[in-house]
Amino acid sequence: MNANKQITIDANRLSLDQALLIQAPEVTQSEVLDLINRFNEGVASLLLTSYDQRELRVTKDKIRRVLRCERNLVESQISKDKPTPAMVIGTLLDACFTIHASGGELEDPTKDALSFLSAQGEDLGIDPGAEDLVRAKVEEGCTKLLAFWDTDAIRDKFSLRLQDRIAISFDNTRLQLIGRPDVVLSGLDSNYEDVVIIDVKSGTPKIFDVEDAHLYALMETLRSHRPPSLIGNYYLAIDRLELIAPSLQLLDKEANRTLSAIAKMVEIASTKSAAATRSVELCRFCPINSTCTEVTEDDRLGWAAPEQPISFEDAIEAAIGTQAGPRG
Ligand code: SF4
Repeated sequence: MNANKQITIDANRLSLDQALLIQAPEVTQSEVLDLINRFNEGVASLLLTSYDQRELRVTKDKIRRVLRCERNLVESQISKDKPTPAMVIGTLLDACFTIHASGGELEDPTKDALSFLSAQGEDLGIDPGAEDLVRAKVEEGCTKLLAFWDTDAIRDKFSLRLQDRIAISFDNTRLQLIGRPDVVLSGLDSNYEDVVIIDVKSGTPKIFDVEDAHLYALMETLRSHRPPSLIGNYYLAIDRLELIAPSLQLLDKEANRTLSAIAKMVEIASTKSAAATRSVELCRFCPINSTCTEVTEDDRLGWAAPEQPISFEDAIEAAIGTQAGPRG
């Protein structure tokens, strides 16, 4: 099988359209159809044998939670994670990106993003003690965004879908696999040829980002019967675009990961119980981390220190368990 080709783009050195010339590993149509059939059969065997057909909405957030700590998934439905300034900055920068990439003006980025979110029914509160920091970081992120993302040039070359809702349904079940990547780019002459999926991130690379990109690759394959040619994340804070050309191996692995998550969700719904499992990525932000017996006082003290970013290569390694392919 072909390795995944990984591409790192320093925004100052390589333009987006140069990146798109990079060839994806070839996945044949019969391999794609086999993968889709296997996935559909996997979903059917999970849901038709052991689930009572209530609606089950599966998202990237639920998948990442349930595979690490079932209890965290349940608790996150009861109360949201404690929003940190970093989360607020991320939400605001996401909104700024959507405004800018759809041709809108950003005069006061924080204010414009808050208005945009409010118009969508999301009223984001900013802790007064963190307001200066949030404003400064959003301003800084937007300066990089405006320099990197040339909206007019990109719209001249590509068909662009922002916040593109993907919803995959499965025969005879009430399961939906739902996602909303920030950007789906394709050639101007066809909706689904050479699709590139990019999420915009305000922080540094994290393992979740790689997992999310892989899920979008699977979802696009299920939706259009054609894998995207590139998937990845644009990191505003470090002004870098990280892309992967997905191979059949990556898609297979993601299909298995997603099926494992669905199996756990079905089990939680059937047994009405959810085990707590300590998780480096989740405990720190978990709504019940002050009382959960799985975490220690040392853990809680450690969370006071700033989070250490991991490299993109380590995130790949942790996410798919294989050596990343050569850099393009
Ligand atoms: S604190 Fe950690 S172990 Fe406990 S429920 Fe939350 S994520 Fe799970």
